[in-house]
Amino acid sequence: MAKKHETAIVSEPVAEQIPNGIKAEKKKKKKKDKQNEASPKRKLEEVEIHDDTESNKKSKKHKKSKQNAEENGTVEGNDGNSTKDDESARDGSVVVTGKNVKDAKYEPLRTFSASGLPENVLECCKNFERPSPIQSRAWPFLLDGRDLIGIAATGSGKTLAFGIPAIMHVKSKRKGKASKGRNPLCLVLSPTRELAQQISDVISDAGSSCGVESICLYGGTSKGPQISSLKSGIDIVIGTPGRIKDLIEMGVCCLKEVSFVVLDEADRMLDMGFEQAVRSILGQTCSVRQMVMFSATWPLPVHQLAQEFMDPNPVKVVVGSEDLAANHDVMQIVEVLEDHSRDKRLAALLEKYHESQRNRVLVFVLYKWEATRVENMLREGGWKVVSIHGDKAQSERTKALSLFKKGSCPLMIATDVAARGLDIPDVEVVINYSFPLTTEDYVHRIGRTGRAGKKGVAHTFFTKHNKGLAGELVNVLKEAGQVVPEALLKFGTHVKKKESKLYGAHFKEIPVNAPKSQKITFDNSDDED
Ligand code: AMP
Repeated sequence: MAKKHETAIVSEPVAEQIPNGIKAEKKKKKKKDKQNEASPKRKLEEVEIHDDTESNKKSKKHKKSKQNAEENGTVEGNDGNSTKDDESARDGSVVVTGKNVKDAKYEPLRTFSASGLPENVLECCKNFERPSPIQSRAWPFLLDGRDLIGIAATGSGKTLAFGIPAIMHVKSKRKGKASKGRNPLCLVLSPTRELAQQISDVISDAGSSCGVESICLYGGTSKGPQISSLKSGIDIVIGTPGRIKDLIEMGVCCLKEVSFVVLDEADRMLDMGFEQAVRSILGQTCSVRQMVMFSATWPLPVHQLAQEFMDPNPVKVVVGSEDLAANHDVMQIVEVLEDHSRDKRLAALLEKYHESQRNRVLVFVLYKWEATRVENMLREGGWKVVSIHGDKAQSERTKALSLFKKGSCPLMIATDVAARGLDIPDVEVVINYSFPLTTEDYVHRIGRTGRAGKKGVAHTFFTKHNKGLAGELVNVLKEAGQVVPEALLKFGTHVKKKESKLYGAHFKEIPVNAPKSQKITFDNSDDED
């Protein structure tokens, strides 16, 4: 059994990284935290910090990563991204790798007061019991100016894990001066408009109590208000690569003073083809900058981006596992059926799962046209339903999401746009009407339920067209201790070797801090340099 740590005020070393002015605030905060102890606080399930090193060693997952590490020739707890100068520190389910990560000043923060952050900056955390594991580990490094790679899923508290250091970065640069007419100092890039909006909501709420202003820039909406906000001066820009690039090209978005950059869902950003846009945007920012990259997975193109744009010694914080694993709080039901029976079956499942028409049910489909068709079919069947997909105008997407979030329309059809990154509270059931193109997407989709310690149900239709993914799905089900239907096993359990889009199956993973590659030019080459 995992043994829980006592919640303790972390010892003074953390204060080494804290500017002097903050120390006085820290004392006040400690006192306030004590007073607040009586009031109920929100706590992420994962927030609990376990001292389960021993039990973890026994766990299947740990054995697997150990075995992988041995196969890769790296030491236990190390993730194949380390050089011999690197250290690896494990704290419960979190593994931190990088140079000097065991320094006392990087001790995990067990309480908010231990962070020494000013009260007005921590205002946004007042309903939380303590920093989530990613916050607890990332803040000390980020507040110390280190580059950081975070492997953590949405719902782990990662937005504030980078958002609060971004706010502190602005505060220390502006030194109390107003942001009027000034260029932004921080940039957060996100792959989808909805995720950008969600990050922006969290950061503007956090910044409102301490005078840090942010703006969200994304496509599908008019540029006018975005341009006026940029002109009036802003501290933090959050947005999607396409719109930001457009505004840069129009000469209205100047990023030359940006010295704190976050790439959120970096893997997704590259998957969606934003690599060139991201590179060109990063090229506009200050050459001396702090870089933070969050990614749910760590494929080769993301390594390369990190290697190119980050400090040679970034810290890597992995929350949970980098392996593909589903949330164990989700009951996974897989039903093998014929394509043409899905409509009828979906209607029957809604009678079962959505009888009250009050609980949130999210139905995933693969294609935009499929979303429209299923939405119309359900509407004709008398269901109150909204949908979110790429063919809808941004205003409609925002409206649908808001109706779903508020609960005024708790049934939503979505393509994978909504599968990752969105923090939608209390989704009780996810139905996969069409199986996604990858098992990773399946794991992300079903991760929309079973959040914040609640249990969820994911009911998935699997047809013969999806048989290539049967083996991987069986592994995901088995890992989570779920029932594997006989009909699924009939498709076979073969798992295709993962391939890099660029290099095929035979690529070697590059450590993030490996020496940078050098450009070789040939004297008699006709190529441009
Ligand atoms: P993320 O999308 O990873 O930023 O996670 C966002 C969710 O985590 C939101 O529901 C937040 O309210 C919640 N959250 C953030 N920080 C904490 C914390 N320290 N304790 C509990 N919940 C948190």
